[in-house]
Amino acid sequence: MSIKVSGVSKKYKEQQALDNVSFAIEKGEVVGFLGPNGAGKSTMMKILTTTILATNGDVEVNELDVNTQTDQVRKSIGYLPEHNPLYLEMYVREYLQFNAGLFKVDRKKVDTVIEQTGLTPEAHKKIGQLSKGYRQRVGLAAALLHEPEVLILDEPTTGLDPNQLVDIRTLIKTFGKDRTVLLSTHIMQEVEAICDRVIIINKGKIVADKNLVDLRKGQQQVVEVEFDYRVEEVALNRIEHVQSVKNVEGFLYELTFDTNTDMRSVVFDFAHDNQLKILKLDQQNQNLETLFRELTA
Ligand code: ADP
Ligand code: MG
Repeated sequence: MSIKVSGVSKKYKEQQALDNVSFAIEKGEVVGFLGPNGAGKSTMMKILTTTILATNGDVEVNELDVNTQTDQVRKSIGYLPEHNPLYLEMYVREYLQFNAGLFKVDRKKVDTVIEQTGLTPEAHKKIGQLSKGYRQRVGLAAALLHEPEVLILDEPTTGLDPNQLVDIRTLIKTFGKDRTVLLSTHIMQEVEAICDRVIIINKGKIVADKNLVDLRKGQQQVVEVEFDYRVEEVALNRIEHVQSVKNVEGFLYELTFDTNTDMRSVVFDFAHDNQLKILKLDQQNQNLETLFRELTA
């Protein structure tokens, strides 16, 4: 087990930030820690990374106790804290070399992580000169330096523009292939895009813990499609498995299907058969969204 949290509570004076939280994460899983602001995500991550202590409960990372084996836990974790605190006056390579020193890592490793995180063209710049997306890469590079088995990423994509968002998600996916990842977010699509599993937290309590595959099973699916021309709703209603059709605006339609099989290719064929062009095609898992709203509203 990579992470084992049993009955963890945390109180900041009067504020109960975590209330009897338990979950376990297997080696290699990529888990989304989803919850609204103030739910307790950062608090849980700070406890996992030995930044703060829990008021109650047990926490193990790689079978190491966070209270008594602090140094070993830190060695096996790569942590990207919320708001990614960096020394803006330092140069990228200098900052990473400084971190390599802290972790007693061979400095050659700095070049490896610079390459892995796509920082090569920016490595000679001051961190303060970088865009938010590249700063996140620096934070990720620093978290990866000591080759940790577990990555804890606290809202790694918050505040990024759409391109940077995709880049950082791609990086996380790549790093998640041979690591255990726990990443917090309040964005459901992020969980959809990157994770195998979702743990939803609300007001300090775990309210759901599900595999995304299970979540998708036997449920509805919504496909948003924009054509270059108007389509009769009756025609769209004749597509197999369509339950309902909504004209969102202009030539943009929302199709709800009663199947979990990805229907995008069927919609594509429909467009082709009707000599329409597709300007946009997007499939959403309605279930995570519904679940999240129900549990955290
Ligand atoms: P999230 O990361 O999900 O937004 P946090 O873990 O940061 O949530 O916060 C959980 C709750 O604990 C919030 O109500 C927050 O205001 C409170 N909190 C967080 N840190 C402190 C602190 N150092 N002192 C007092 N209250 C805190
Ligand atoms: Mg937070």
